[in-house]
Amino acid sequence: MKIVIIGGGIGGLVTYHALRKHLADADPSISVKLVESHPSLSNTSRTIGGGLGLAPNGMRAIASIAPEAAAYINERGFLGDVMSFRNSNGRLLGRFNGGTIRRYGFGMLMIRRAVVHEALIPGLREEDVHWGMKVEGVKEVGEQVLVEYEDGTTELADLVIGADGVRSVVQHSLFDGAYKAAYDGLTGVGGFIPFSDLSPRLQESFDPHGVTMTFGRKGFFGYSLCVPAFTPSPFIQWWSIYEAPSMPNREKPNKDAIKAQLLARHGSWKSPYDSPDSGVYKSIIELGCRDSETPQNPEMQAMLAFDMNVLVLPRYVTPRLPCWTNAGSKNEKAQGRIILLGDAAHTMPPDSGQGVSCAAEDAVVYALLLKHYYTAPDGLRKAAKAYERMRMPRVHRILDIAKRNGDAKKEMGWFAQKFRDTAIWLLCKLPESIHDYAFAYDSEKAVAEFLAKEGL
Ligand SMILES: Cc1cc2nc3c(=O)[nH]c(=O)nc-3n(C[C@H](O)[C@H](O)[C@H](O)COP(=O)(O)OP(=O)(O)OC[C@H]3O[C@@H](n4cnc5c(N)ncnc54)[C@H](O)[C@@H]3O)c2cc1C
Repeated sequence: MKIVIIGGGIGGLVTYHALRKHLADADPSISVKLVESHPSLSNTSRTIGGGLGLAPNGMRAIASIAPEAAAYINERGFLGDVMSFRNSNGRLLGRFNGGTIRRYGFGMLMIRRAVVHEALIPGLREEDVHWGMKVEGVKEVGEQVLVEYEDGTTELADLVIGADGVRSVVQHSLFDGAYKAAYDGLTGVGGFIPFSDLSPRLQESFDPHGVTMTFGRKGFFGYSLCVPAFTPSPFIQWWSIYEAPSMPNREKPNKDAIKAQLLARHGSWKSPYDSPDSGVYKSIIELGCRDSETPQNPEMQAMLAFDMNVLVLPRYVTPRLPCWTNAGSKNEKAQGRIILLGDAAHTMPPDSGQGVSCAAEDAVVYALLLKHYYTAPDGLRKAAKAYERMRMPRVHRILDIAKRNGDAKKEMGWFAQKFRDTAIWLLCKLPESIHDYAFAYDSEKAVAEFLAKEGL
């Protein structure tokens, strides 16, 4: 069986490892090929870029198929399991344990996205991975799927996995363009700053387990360390999310314009850690948007080599898809041979902190189901159906929560702000167990339970 994974983001890379571990390593008749449109890994990381919060459930999924990758990530991430929520007047609304190692075995990590990519590279077989290959479309052909590349070449596969992100061509081919991704009116801007550049007062305020999330009437501002606390030359990540009616130019961001609009939004926000000469938010924005110098810190040098000091990430939404596979295709022979996962199946907004984790879970769950059904009659269709039954309800529930979190970052009036601040204060009073649904999920256990319930 020839499997082609389209997309070398975190979802595609985890899928590769999961399929190798659960199927292909034990059966030489199964080949797994991964194609990615970017010419190299560093290019992929640069374009997707930035920092992210990697949740315990995502780490558990990664650890299940590549324990060395999980260890690599753990060593390089900042354990951000305590969230401090503030409002723009500088008031602490509350603190919340959001993904502790004690409860979940893995903690919430704040980390550069590129590190997660790097972690998943060892173990990829050179002959299986093809950078710089852009897919234009896929088509069911008899008992196979035809993959069409931008350079005019084609190939046939027995199974195609679309892990090609929010503007997925596989999704587009499956639904004939009926479910297009659209800009959702919120934009994220962010970057990294060496810790040593922060004022001494602000440096003192950094809690070794803390992520600061501040909500105002004109958007949201977050900051935290993103390498382990107490490393010799730490740096922080910062990000702002705000409403912008038209989509900003992410290819050529105008740093001065970004800085001016960030200062207009957050520059006057208050923090108890403001210095007499500069407020916390103002100084982070000014440092984050300054012209890059050559930094001393080698990790920062690597990042700035990609000019990653200000990233503009407009957010996209895709309508909910009726299905994530072609298991219901009219072509019975092709049923279950096209699978969508990660953002290609369900565009996960940043507010969930679950996009990467859900993509990793999808990958592990599907690989285990395929392993189970592969040799059964009609096995690919059964695996596809089981994958949809297992994953769609969970992901839709997480999407609903993310939508509510995203709304809290939109511009709002005085009453709405008071209401939101009260809701956050109440949230901080709740036990950490309210996150069990998201963080405690164990893909291997979930598949075993599903199969047991189905009597298989
Ligand atoms: C501003 C922002 C902040 C976020 N923060 C977080 C966070 O803190 N935590 C979190 O968990 N999630 C976060 N997310 C969501 C997260 O980024 C996504 O859910 C996650 O990256 C999905 O992974 P994926 O592998 O499915 O898709 P992607 O990461 O988009 O990867 C898709 C890959 O497919 C490749 N590709 C696309 N088209 C083709 C083609 N035609 N041919 C070949 N290759 C192709 C792309 O180049 C890319 O490498 C954030 C998203 C945004 C926009």
